Amino acid sequence: MNTKRTISVLGSTGSIGRQSLEVIAALGLSVGALTAHSSVDLLEEQARKFRPRLVAATDPKAAADLKVRLADTGIRVVSGQEGLPEAAVLPESDTVITAVVGVAGLTPTLAAIDAGKRIALANKETLVCAGELVMARAREKGVDIVPVDSEHSALFQCLEGNSRGEVKRLILTASGGPFFGKSRAELENVTRAQALKHPNWSMGAKITIDSATMMNKGLEFIEAMRLYDMPPEKISIVVHRESIVHSLVEYCDGAVLAQLGAPDMRLPIQYALTWPERQPGPADALDLLTCGPLHFAPPDLEAFPCLALAMEAAKTGGTAPAIMNGANEAAVARFLADEIGFYDIPRLVEDALSHVPVVPAPGLEEIQAADAAGRQIAER
Ligand code: NAD
Ligand code: MG
Repeated sequence: MNTKRTISVLGSTGSIGRQSLEVIAALGLSVGALTAHSSVDLLEEQARKFRPRLVAATDPKAAADLKVRLADTGIRVVSGQEGLPEAAVLPESDTVITAVVGVAGLTPTLAAIDAGKRIALANKETLVCAGELVMARAREKGVDIVPVDSEHSALFQCLEGNSRGEVKRLILTASGGPFFGKSRAELENVTRAQALKHPNWSMGAKITIDSATMMNKGLEFIEAMRLYDMPPEKISIVVHRESIVHSLVEYCDGAVLAQLGAPDMRLPIQYALTWPERQPGPADALDLLTCGPLHFAPPDLEAFPCLALAMEAAKTGGTAPAIMNGANEAAVARFLADEIGFYDIPRLVEDALSHVPVVPAPGLEEIQAADAAGRQIAER
């Protein structure tokens, strides 16, 4: 690679964060900052291995503990909410991986854009809630936002070298999650443990539940609209159980370009760091002769109403996606705490969308208020 990147990893102890550090180690890149909510043991281990300038823990107790543990290293430890934005703008880093979960990723992403960093974007909630604002800010600052989400990385790769005006349709693939093929009646009483068993990917708890409800694909639908400036009519969703074809672009002449690969997040993470170049890396290779047959099916919007709700919120626009996302984050947290059932998630999201007034063309404060209002309804 021509540029030896120095990277701040926001959310380094999570699923994407840990895989990002594997890629960084394999490519011999440097780490500027690491952040997490708590996970003191893992943060200490990562800090000792990668020797960043800064480590931040949003949980003050974890940060105090870490300060003592890392006293011999000279690494600065920051506590609380200040840590994330500070890591995002660290002068030594030229790239920020946003691997925090939820809308908590929004303000640090904006800070990193303002500081001119390349954004390797995993945190899809940021684009769902404030995509228009974030993309406009990135254009203004001349900052590249390169997606880490596997479907969006696939679209990014299939769009390269072609004109956006020639695109007929973006086709997002969906694994269908653990409950593909089940009816609504069969899913009424599914448990947290059943919903946490994803067939193809090992991910954080929140996105795993989003995959079970298919809200994840709804969030990705909006993420694709914002990243590639496409109207909802030009995006379709196809269930593809094997997660080998990561997404496709159909062009006006009928050509369909796809990106294929083993289901291994280290490949899209790496491409977000090396783009526009490619390098050998740690991701698993795809063997077409052993990967088995590939299947495609339409999504079932009746069994998975979250997907329909998200597509509707996408069409409404304004603060609707932020209301929906806030309600979904709160509802998923309650489902994970065994407080509500599986179909209470779409019910609460729908409640929020029908009760909170939508503001068109919102600014940051209106987006944050919409998120809070959606959350409040789902927490009641
Ligand atoms: P995770 O739960 O495994 O990790 C989240 C990380 O963020 C952890 O380091 C945690 O300490 C930190 N964190 C959590 N809440 C925080 C808060 N309020 N403030 C600061 N830090 C906080 O999540 P994940 O599966 O790695 O997903 C991260 C993001 O990447 C999500 O937005 C998800 O949708 C997206 N994503 C994940 C995958 C995947 O394979 N896991 C794939 C595509 C996109
Ligand atoms: Mg994805």
